[in-house]
Amino acid sequence: MKIHEFQAKEIFSRYTIPVTREILCFTPAEVTSATETLGLPVVVKAQVLTGGRGKAGGVKLARTIDDATQAAHQILGMDIKGYMVEKVLVAQGVKFSAEFYVGLTIDRKTKSVIFMASKEGGVEIEEVAKNTPEAILKFPIDADLGMTPFMARKIAFALFNDFNLVKQATTLFQKLYTMFLETDASLAEINPLVLTDEGNLLALDGKMTFDDNALFRQKEIAALNEPTEDEQKEISAKEKGLTYIRLDGSIGCMVNGAGLAMATMDLIKYYGGSPANFLDIGGSSNPQKVIDAMNLLLSDKHVKVVMINIFGGITRCDDVARGLISALSQLKIDIPIVVRLAGTNSKEGLEIIKQSNLTVVETMSEAAQKAISLCKDCAKQAPYLSSISI
Ligand code: GDP
Ligand code: MN
Repeated sequence: MKIHEFQAKEIFSRYTIPVTREILCFTPAEVTSATETLGLPVVVKAQVLTGGRGKAGGVKLARTIDDATQAAHQILGMDIKGYMVEKVLVAQGVKFSAEFYVGLTIDRKTKSVIFMASKEGGVEIEEVAKNTPEAILKFPIDADLGMTPFMARKIAFALFNDFNLVKQATTLFQKLYTMFLETDASLAEINPLVLTDEGNLLALDGKMTFDDNALFRQKEIAALNEPTEDEQKEISAKEKGLTYIRLDGSIGCMVNGAGLAMATMDLIKYYGGSPANFLDIGGSSNPQKVIDAMNLLLSDKHVKVVMINIFGGITRCDDVARGLISALSQLKIDIPIVVRLAGTNSKEGLEIIKQSNLTVVETMSEAAQKAISLCKDCAKQAPYLSSISI
């Protein structure tokens, strides 16, 4: 789960990591009065759940109150990488001489928390990571020892020569690590961490993401969640016992079992189509789930054809068939549906759907090919192979 910069910096403050004074605003008028409160200059910053705001024009320095108000007019309502800016942070402008990058994340290679640090912080950090990866130093942190004063000093010395700064950085890095652990974060990043003209280290930006599996014990953080439209759908699907992930293709998939769902998506790709989603309706026999799943698929305007792939084990094909018939009678469905039912009670299941106008096929390979051929807007890509039987 991601949170906004202003929320990350509130957490930083709780751990006494130094941040700028700032006020969250929703309207240009609020920005004007926030600027009066903070004093000039200020920086007006878009609060959206994505990075690279500076480069997208979502961070503006204002030297007059008029500039700040104007920046608010420009930034509020702006689209940054598909995210609409609904709020801005007005932060006290800071004069600084250097920008550093520091961040903590979990590194699967070393199976540890890793501390990343660079003297080349700022908006170009992605370029630095791509072109000169050696400029980003990495320090695996031993889980048993934690961030020892020795380790924190070692990292600090890699960034600073001045002993006063090393001292400041050492305590700051230890606080950052404690925060990372205590909040079940998967990322805690300060970019830039600046050296102010007064000689202090200050977090000018903050980014945190959290392990979704730990949110049950991080109630305060979980409450900050602002799910996107797609995530909202995924959450409501989960409440109905469905595992749904939206993708950007045009073939809606309804499958029982995660492995079969993955294989189904692979097969659609294999034959030159593209899946609109991952959807696992689970292993239990419950016709209501089929109705819910069909509703979910049809709510996505990109879905041009539905492919149902059921291999009955615990799931009984006749139950799925009953759910389908009931969904067909309840919903207005005007796109083709291709069905493959095999396994437990498939004979009974096929008998039930015989009267409907569903396209019934025998194998999942046929189902994928049929779905692609029925999909009017699907890209006409040549299949890798024309004769393959799976
Ligand atoms: P990001 O682009 O989304 O990472 O947004 P940041 O908050 O990191 O801001 C982008 C850049 O704007 C920073 O790297 C700084 O160079 C600059 N910036 C941000 N706040 C201030 C400030 O208070 N004073 C000055 N002079 N520059 C700032
Ligand atoms: Mn930044």
